Amino acid sequence: MSKIKSTNTKPELMLRKFLFSKGMRYRINYKKLPGKPDIVFTKYKTIIFVNGCFWHGHENCKIAHLPKTNTDFWQNKISRNIERDNKNVQNNILLGWKVLVIWECEINKNNLENIYNRILDAISEDLENKTFKITLYTENEERVSKVSEDIFKYNKKNLGL
Ligand SMILES: [Zn+2]
Repeated sequence: MSKIKSTNTKPELMLRKFLFSKGMRYRINYKKLPGKPDIVFTKYKTIIFVNGCFWHGHENCKIAHLPKTNTDFWQNKISRNIERDNKNVQNNILLGWKVLVIWECEINKNNLENIYNRILDAISEDLENKTFKITLYTENEERVSKVSEDIFKYNKKNLGL
């Protein structure tokens, strides 16, 4: 099993390179958050766990099959990993972070754009719900009240009041 690495795997690097080429900037293996998320967008409070299918027990996945020897041992180990993963996801959500889990088997050249869009969706949803809408609203409101004030003055002058 030594061939299966748990961090900095090839698919994860492929994804990171792609996101970087799209202009995204992020932290990696962020120690300040539960489970040391693999990719972190601190500005958008969004994190990504890139899960290796074998170690993290991806359900119904072709590349996550258990070894034929010591099956119980691996089964137990991976069940514990799944439990820990779930706890990490929940704890990050409780801390106010948006969490995406991306599986190793999803990462291939043809799917990188889809994953990128999923991340953008998560980030922009956050913007809409918080900062973005609020800023737009106050700006519009200010402009509207200024405009009506100007019209009012203009009319008063015109009417000789
Ligand atoms: Zn998988």
